[in-house]
Amino acid sequence: MSPREIVVVSGKGGTGKTTLTACFAALAEGPRIMADADVDAPNLELLLSPRETEKRPFFGMEVAHVDAARCTGCGECERFCRFRAISVRDGKAEVDSGFCEGCGGCLLVCPEACISKEKFQRGVLRRGETDFGSMWYARLTPGGENSGMLVALLRKEAKREAVERGVSLLLVDGPPGVGCPVISSLTGADFAVLVTEPSRSALSDLRRVISLCTMLSVPFGIAVNRWDLSKEMTSAIRAACDEEGWSFLGAVPFSEKTARAVNEGRIPVKEIGDPLRELWRAILEKGREH
Ligand code: SF4
Ligand code: SF4
Repeated sequence: MSPREIVVVSGKGGTGKTTLTACFAALAEGPRIMADADVDAPNLELLLSPRETEKRPFFGMEVAHVDAARCTGCGECERFCRFRAISVRDGKAEVDSGFCEGCGGCLLVCPEACISKEKFQRGVLRRGETDFGSMWYARLTPGGENSGMLVALLRKEAKREAVERGVSLLLVDGPPGVGCPVISSLTGADFAVLVTEPSRSALSDLRRVISLCTMLSVPFGIAVNRWDLSKEMTSAIRAACDEEGWSFLGAVPFSEKTARAVNEGRIPVKEIGDPLRELWRAILEKGREH
């Protein structure tokens, strides 16, 4: 049986999404598996402290590679590549792997047949054990591409383990924003928790991530973190939920104690208290409806 996959996302960084995900991991009952899909800047491990059990290299798509010894510097490849990924410098062609789309066209036009396609490591995929269950996490090498591919692989591995072990809950900490890694995190998920904060810019980012969920047909609900920092904006978010028919899951207040716990690497379940438990209950209830 496939696990119920709940993905926690936010339209922007800094909303406290990862802290709330760690709290949900601690609050959940029964076997669960966690995954940190923010492969550009993974932080869930700072709170869940996984003890590493597995580590694998991640290879993205194949990109062009030039055998410099045989390259004559004729420039055919450079003229062909519309992605400007290959250029001749000092008489030799060089590939900028960040721009190479792996189309293979330059291999066909090279008169010396000295271009091949090669895989190279773009990141690392890990598995570990936490106090609440196993966790999958990954890190892209700085400047590495294919973050969407790495997120997809991470989710696939976490899901595979859940199916094999009969674990019914998969909790994913998604990346911020609305780009490729977020799409990769949300596609096919059972429910998305959209964490926002009470500010005008957060509401506009929230609308963008809602459009994404709608486009991907992923049911979602909204949680406001640090709601008391602007009661006015929290009311505006609630009013938008009523007006648009979005599901409002709950709100969590700000507290110095919570901030201190997070800074010390502790999961602030006790510090946030009842509002957190109510939020988690609402997530489970809403999630079950879909
Ligand atoms: S494989 Fe395609 S994208 Fe990459 S350098 Fe060659 S022509 Fe350009
Ligand atoms: S087409 Fe081949 S030989 Fe010519 S510059 Fe490119 S890699 Fe070198």
